[in-house]
Amino acid sequence: MSRFRMYPTTAQRLALLQQCGHARYVWNLALEQWAMWTREKGPTPGYVAQCRQLTEARSAFDWLRSGSQMVQQQALRDFDQACRNFYAGTHRRPTWRKAGRCEGFRIVGSQASRIVRLNRKWAAVNVPKVGWVRFRLSRAVPEAKSYRITVDPSGRWHLAFAVIPPPIPVSGPGEVVGVDRGVTVSAALSTGERLSCPGLSDHEQKRLKYLQRRLGRCRRASQRRQRVKTAIAKLYARSGDRRKDWVEKTSTDLARRFAIIRVEDLRIVKMIGRPKPKPDPARPGRHLPNRRRAKAGLNRGILANGWGALVRRLEHKAPGRVEKVNPAYTSQTCSVCGHCVPENRKSQAVFRCVACGHQANADVNAAINIAAGRAVSARRETPGQVSPKREPQHSTSG
Ligand SMILES: [Zn+2]
Repeated sequence: MSRFRMYPTTAQRLALLQQCGHARYVWNLALEQWAMWTREKGPTPGYVAQCRQLTEARSAFDWLRSGSQMVQQQALRDFDQACRNFYAGTHRRPTWRKAGRCEGFRIVGSQASRIVRLNRKWAAVNVPKVGWVRFRLSRAVPEAKSYRITVDPSGRWHLAFAVIPPPIPVSGPGEVVGVDRGVTVSAALSTGERLSCPGLSDHEQKRLKYLQRRLGRCRRASQRRQRVKTAIAKLYARSGDRRKDWVEKTSTDLARRFAIIRVEDLRIVKMIGRPKPKPDPARPGRHLPNRRRAKAGLNRGILANGWGALVRRLEHKAPGRVEKVNPAYTSQTCSVCGHCVPENRKSQAVFRCVACGHQANADVNAAINIAAGRAVSARRETPGQVSPKREPQHSTSG
């Protein structure tokens, strides 16, 4: 993805928002049709049938016809792709699009190449039904067949080209590295380095808490509520930007320095699911604590550290050089002698082997195990005494 910040004028912003609204409307209609599926009624209309319906709808409704046909058709195509991804098991179920959140539309084909350079710092793109919109040339515009225009909740417009960056060659001898992704330290390397992903500062977190409390007291649909909402969105955007920046820099660095990059194969989508309720055997109908709050905290950490994003980016920049290793027991196994018991893990930070006395930082020890590819294959040899603090159970039992 190659993104540029766009600076539309006020009139253009309204026109762009209208296009976003059309795309959202068409997407939501497609979602509604798709969700109406029942065993009795049979299949719901597919992409081709929906396109035909769109043509009919455009001839019936002026407001729909006033928008670009391509934008609306691409929304259907995007939805079709989202369904395919869902059935393939790589993505979650397509969801309802809401105004003010994840807004955007896509332009493809010859219309996507109408871009002119204005000067050293600025260029303009001709968006159908909107006109020439200026964007900042923060890098070279890539050769791409389509682009996407988005607006984030903090009100920033972006122009994004879907391009996979060219692979980064290894410089130097080319070693193997293991990366352990944690919550307190975002990534620990088998070389002993510990990299942490910057989030919001203490001051910013305090401000976020304050704004969230204030939002709760605002009257619905009031101007103040809108202002507070924008302020919150700006803080979220800031932490998101920092995270993306970290992911890009770290993945480039790793791809450049190491020949083989081994990471834990964690099913992140499964891990961030809700923990199962534990029924209490002594009192029927009641439940034992299932550490749901603790897991919620862990989930926040996982998302904040951009785990998925780092691996995805590494696979783009170092294709064929990223290996996924079974993460089971990597945090309990001694990287020197291979002894594996839960007692090895003294605390969140410290690892001390009860057999040979080897002591190290726990995340670095795990990273060395991952680098060695030393993943214990027998999953159920030792009963599930894995610490819920460190090793989410879904990854070992799932
Ligand atoms: Zn040992």
